[in-house]
Amino acid sequence: MLFKRLVTQIFIVAILFTGIMVLNTNEVLAADSNLSWGSRSDAVITLQKSLNNQGYWCGNVDGIFGAKTYAAVVKYQKSAGIPTTGTVGPLTRQALGLTSNSPDSTTVSRGARTLSIVASGYCSCNKCNYPYGGQPSYLGYPLGKGIIAVDPRVIPMGSKLYVEGYGSGIAADQGNAIKGNRIDLCFSSHQEALNWGIKTVKVTIY
Ligand SMILES: [Zn+2]
Repeated sequence: MLFKRLVTQIFIVAILFTGIMVLNTNEVLAADSNLSWGSRSDAVITLQKSLNNQGYWCGNVDGIFGAKTYAAVVKYQKSAGIPTTGTVGPLTRQALGLTSNSPDSTTVSRGARTLSIVASGYCSCNKCNYPYGGQPSYLGYPLGKGIIAVDPRVIPMGSKLYVEGYGSGIAADQGNAIKGNRIDLCFSSHQEALNWGIKTVKVTIY
């Protein structure tokens, strides 16, 4: 009975962990570190469950990356055509379907991609928008924090963006000078736009 209860508890932990990974992709970066012989974590539990489910038996799901888990990983990597390192890195994780959608991942992206982009700042004033001062953005939103001008050939209009040092926004505007690898970040005041200046930042496009 005790064993059964333990198995149930581990199962619940694994389910919770999977749920967390799905719900909050930004918070699981720690779980994305490589797993290898000797690793002990909830991520190992998820790995073991996945391997067992796919017929690569790594023994009881105990969260400890030991000999059986190692053997199962190697066997899985061989059959999946992945270099047989015995270590679970991005390739193996992706093949197993354990990949989280982390925004800063460059090799593995499911939907989101990250670019290095030159970003300037503007506001709704006539100086920044001559001769369109006070008019709404290209997509009709009132200008303010979170409105970002883009080159639609690089970033599709309407995309949700996350800009390092600025925060979240939407690709909702365009500008004559915003061509290619450039964006313009809208601020609520001219002074804030001046304070931002111009810098190269990482931009995640969702
Ligand atoms: Zn301005």
